[in-house]
Amino acid sequence: TSIDKYAVFGNPIKHSKSPLIHASFAEQTEQALQYRAVRVELDAFECAVKAFFDRGGRGLNVTVPFKQQAYDLAVQRSVRAERAGAVNTLYLAENGELCGDNTDGIGLVRDMVANLGWSLQGQRMLILGAGGAVRGVLEPLLKERPASLTIVNRTAQRATDLAQEFAELSGDSGLLQGGGYELLEGRQFDLLINASSAGLSGELPDLPGSLLTERSCCYDMIYGAEPTVFMRWAALHAAWAVADGLGMLVEQAAESFYLWRKLRPSTAPVIKHLRQTLTAA
Ligand code: NDP
Repeated sequence: TSIDKYAVFGNPIKHSKSPLIHASFAEQTEQALQYRAVRVELDAFECAVKAFFDRGGRGLNVTVPFKQQAYDLAVQRSVRAERAGAVNTLYLAENGELCGDNTDGIGLVRDMVANLGWSLQGQRMLILGAGGAVRGVLEPLLKERPASLTIVNRTAQRATDLAQEFAELSGDSGLLQGGGYELLEGRQFDLLINASSAGLSGELPDLPGSLLTERSCCYDMIYGAEPTVFMRWAALHAAWAVADGLGMLVEQAAESFYLWRKLRPSTAPVIKHLRQTLTAA
């Protein structure tokens, strides 16, 4: 019998940390498996998924830009994938049907709550950005019962639409608000999450420093060797706590690993190891 095969499909994929993360999980839980990063051509996602599972592949992670296509391909979808409209984890059900799940949101919440010790309940939350990642995290964040959840985005309409869609799902239309950055005028938040990709090119949306209180926590979904622009902005305005998205990355991977192997690896040593490899690079 051959070794169980897993992979992450994306484009680009070169800098993916997922193979390293899953190799650590496998070693720690003494599972024999192989996990590869595969660059899939933009028009070949469906074929590649079919071929992977036809050849006995056990599970896939899916990243940019294929999460929506993975959603469409999945025959069975978890509630959280359904809400997110995006799938980052694929595997086969016992009857051979393709199952899709989304572990990004739970990954973010676990990192903030379990790893960082931030409390989410009753907090005034702000999300910057309204892309795919935000769709994935809204439902798990709402489950934590924030006092309010505000989404702002460069393209205001996307934030307005998201807020409206999820307000209907949560059944509380007063909780969610969405719009452009002008919504931030005169407001303060306890938890700020940067889910805009502006930081990838070293940019930061225009944010008033008065957004923060002395108890505000700031989370950037982006990570790197150096503190991100958003983290530097948060530190400059005396945020209470600041974190990047490395923990989210490891936690979403752990949840995928659990879906595939029914085992929960410890994430702390893996986050620590990744941090070391990032800063040593
Ligand atoms: P999308 O491309 O779907 O969305 C990008 C968002 O960023 C949009 O809301 C876009 O606004 C906004 N944006 C881009 N450039 C700027 C700018 N210059 N100024 C203001 N806003 C800008 O990306 P995703 O939602 O998939 O991912 C968002 C970020 O989260 C990425 O950086 C990604 O790396 C990170 N991420 C991290 C994860 C982790 O595990 N740590 C998991 C998933 C994502 P507009 O609508 O106006 O274009």
